[in-house]
Amino acid sequence: MSIFGKSKKELEIIGNYLTVLYKEKRMSQTMSILNNLGRELIGSDRCSFWCVDTKSDTLWTIEAHNVDRIVIPKGSGLVGYAIDNNETVIVNKPYKDKRFNSDVDKKTGYKTKSILVMPVTDSKNHVIGAYQAVNKLHGKKFKQRDVKKLLISAVMLGKILEADILYNSAVEDQLTRLKNRRGFYDFYESYIAPNASTCNNCVIMCDIDFFKKFNDTYGHNAGDAVLRHVANVFRENIRVDDGVFRWGGEEFIFLLPNTETVDAAKMAEKLRKAIEDSVCHFEDLDLHVTMSFGVHAVSPDATVDENVKLADEMLYRAKENGRNQVQTA
Ligand code: GH3
Ligand code: MG
Ligand code: MG
Repeated sequence: MSIFGKSKKELEIIGNYLTVLYKEKRMSQTMSILNNLGRELIGSDRCSFWCVDTKSDTLWTIEAHNVDRIVIPKGSGLVGYAIDNNETVIVNKPYKDKRFNSDVDKKTGYKTKSILVMPVTDSKNHVIGAYQAVNKLHGKKFKQRDVKKLLISAVMLGKILEADILYNSAVEDQLTRLKNRRGFYDFYESYIAPNASTCNNCVIMCDIDFFKKFNDTYGHNAGDAVLRHVANVFRENIRVDDGVFRWGGEEFIFLLPNTETVDAAKMAEKLRKAIEDSVCHFEDLDLHVTMSFGVHAVSPDATVDENVKLADEMLYRAKENGRNQVQTA
């Protein structure tokens, strides 16, 4: 029996994976399940899913079986070739192929014997990644029919990656590349609200001092450069689990999961000092700004907006008190 060109055994494999997939709402888990599906369907030792990073001109494994994330320069290796040319590649003697990049093997100690790379495209037919299978089991060679087998998981992976790319651009502020207000609400819902009654979480709200005067003096482009600069200083000074967001205009907001108020206040002071000590170079200008900060612990009984308001009240107090300072509830 064969449906969509799949044998009964293959359909069974797909069905089993889809059952697990349906329950899993996390991106990385979903990727991992689809990756394993591809591996099982074509009988390869390893599978990895490569993603194109247009910001850093690199390709990296978003999900790789048994190995940590691998990053390679754009255009390198068979993956780079497949992506640049939007072409599926099958190579059964990689060390004899000039396009093959053996650096990853050298780094991981793995020996690639056969390789199949299939580009993955978005709905506009732009290549956004590639599915790579390495070493067909039992020393066999990859064949054209493996491409067909891999298609189902490659298509699903492509859809999920595209959704993720679209989501990320929807929650990103174009000017500062920080997460925007929508990103803030998503972060709050995922990492703050579920733990609000069991641990202390904090909100820091901050705002550039006299920014209007700044724009009026140096111009709007200088103002934009300062906003980008402030975002960079913040990125460099937060911990991995913290969230930083552009709330709007020249206001930024932080969410600090599992953080005592006294530590959040220390964090705010560190950020305040980092901004005060930093210089934003714009054209031939050395620009300086200061910022005011308000810190408040998340109240588990209050809504997200009420919690933001509490931090905002502290920020207001910092402004009233003379700016360039931290006020903590
Ligand atoms: P305060 O110390 O009380 O916060 O004074 P302020 O001048 O910073 O506050 P105000 O709210 O009066 O002005 C905020 C200014 O921020 C006005 C607006 O033009 C500027 N601004 C908001 N968004 C942007 C932006 O994206 N780029 C630039 N260059 N300026 C912006
Ligand atoms: Mg301001
Ligand atoms: Mg403001």
